[in-house]
Amino acid sequence: MAASIEFHRREILSRLKDPRRGDGSTSIPLEIRWDPLTGRSARLAHFGAIKAQALDYEFYRRPEVIGHCPFCGPDREAQTPSFPRDLIPEGRLHRGQALLVPNLFPYDMHSTVCILTREHVVPLPGLTPEILTDGLGLGLEFWRRLQERSASGSTFPLMGWNYMPPSGGGLVHPHHQYFLIEEPGNRFRLEFEASASHAGVGDYWSALAARERELEERFIGSTGAWTWLAAFAPEGVLGEIIAILPGAWDLDHFDEESVASLSEGLIRCFRYFESASIHSFNAALFLGPRGQKHFAAHLRLVPRTFLNLRDMAPDVNFLKMLMDEPVSVLRPEELAAQIRPFFRESEHQRK
Ligand SMILES: [Zn+2]
Repeated sequence: MAASIEFHRREILSRLKDPRRGDGSTSIPLEIRWDPLTGRSARLAHFGAIKAQALDYEFYRRPEVIGHCPFCGPDREAQTPSFPRDLIPEGRLHRGQALLVPNLFPYDMHSTVCILTREHVVPLPGLTPEILTDGLGLGLEFWRRLQERSASGSTFPLMGWNYMPPSGGGLVHPHHQYFLIEEPGNRFRLEFEASASHAGVGDYWSALAARERELEERFIGSTGAWTWLAAFAPEGVLGEIIAILPGAWDLDHFDEESVASLSEGLIRCFRYFESASIHSFNAALFLGPRGQKHFAAHLRLVPRTFLNLRDMAPDVNFLKMLMDEPVSVLRPEELAAQIRPFFRESEHQRK
């Protein structure tokens, strides 16, 4: 039996007198939604009030702005740390332009940086399928080699990506971060535990992918075995995209084909971002530890922007930072409708 997926929402009207209207009386719609897995709430409000702001890529290319970038130049290996021989005998991992090294400022025991490109500033059109598959492929190699060494294998493979400064990324030079972590952090621990308790009535992630595909409201498309959809209760001010690989419980179910079709979907999202003038995002790819069959591999992708270029205000404020209550100005159903055309070609190829 498929797990039941329930989408709870509450629509609210806020009445006020608007001086911009004739009689001044109006009602402003907003909505609260609850994530069907975790029950975490999110607000939809301020509809259409926030637009993604353009980024001046030439500014980031100025030598005085670049300063010293350890990921640039022909001697990037001399400027980056290497793994001890007992972890990775060759010291660093290479594939194409990509170079994976330990993070000089680690967040966990196994915390790495994967430099994706030789170029310092790479606008979205420059992030090719090869660049993405090389980077993700190196991450996969790192996960496999390090997890094999772990006796329990009970670590979560994680990829994180901050792209361009509105995302909070401190380095403009494109890079992923790959981790093997024992503590999955607040949100993913909640998801992991909720998936486990859901397992009694079926596999939540397969059920979510199937239900969204059936409803055709937030379903975006497919690339390979990945299902792409707009999150029902989004984390980002411009929404959130989720890609699910049903049945991919751990690294034994995640391979180079998974990486290639994930890259293809990311490229399609980037084409949408370009069309919507979105120049920055956060992404996280999570896999479960070995020995469980309820937490499927999934990627979360959240567009980021400065609220405006006058004050350079970030798009996160007290609601998200202190209440952990995200606000999105775009309905997930509208986001899905905007991205769907960029996935149609792959849908046809798949069939
Ligand atoms: Zn650089």
